[in-house]
Amino acid sequence: MPLPRRVAPTPPPPLPGLGAAPPPPAAPDADRRELALTVHRRLCGEYGCPIDYFHALAPLDELVSSLLSHRTRNRDSHRAYESLRAAFPDWAAVRDAPVAEVERAIAGVTWPEAKAPALQRVLRTITERRGALDLSHLATLPAAEAEAWLAALPGVGPKTVAAVLSFSTLRRRALPVDSHHHRVAQRLGLIPASCAVGPSHARLLALLPEAWDAQQVYDNHQVMMRHGQRCCFFRNPACARCVLLDLCPTGRARTGAPPP
Ligand code: SF4
Repeated sequence: MPLPRRVAPTPPPPLPGLGAAPPPPAAPDADRRELALTVHRRLCGEYGCPIDYFHALAPLDELVSSLLSHRTRNRDSHRAYESLRAAFPDWAAVRDAPVAEVERAIAGVTWPEAKAPALQRVLRTITERRGALDLSHLATLPAAEAEAWLAALPGVGPKTVAAVLSFSTLRRRALPVDSHHHRVAQRLGLIPASCAVGPSHARLLALLPEAWDAQQVYDNHQVMMRHGQRCCFFRNPACARCVLLDLCPTGRARTGAPPP
């Protein structure tokens, strides 16, 4: 009988924006928790914590805003959201409108032809499950149940779930992870290089102290995102001036800086 062929292990993907740079080694959980805390403190020193919430939308408004924002610049998705609000008296009217009218109102976002029917599907599903377009029950559900309720909506992923819980007036303890946040976490070795954005939500939240309140978790999202926007760029991160250089295996490999 022929021996089964051995399958070569798949090499880990290169770090985002850094070509064939080696991924940082995976640190044990306790080390990663300590690293996450040190990173948070330093970045709070850099960007200033606590950070004001950037808006105060009702949960359903935040859900719609978040669905429109996928792969779309903030300015464009904000305009599309305002255009939708101006074109229809309420979300029930958006739900029941001909899809072409919704698509026209959100024409400034990426893929309006897909987002318009997807948005109506979500609004219909909420109506079916709640009997009305109302998400107020998320304020009192236990955290895991609130997350599961939102995640069961069609096309709603971990980032949208966390955005609704954290950014809306619910102000609950949840950690949205955008592409900047995710990239910085990968380069620091807080998550493996192979960990996609979706699963990174739970892994990164698990590194933060359970005693932290919603504001502290929101601050963590904000400082990680800002660091990705202002220093740890997709291409050519500014490692030489980075306040995390001594903690960061990627930065040390790029600059030859010594370990801590
Ligand atoms: S040292 Fe470089 S790779 Fe590491 S977090 Fe800072 S900018 Fe990003």
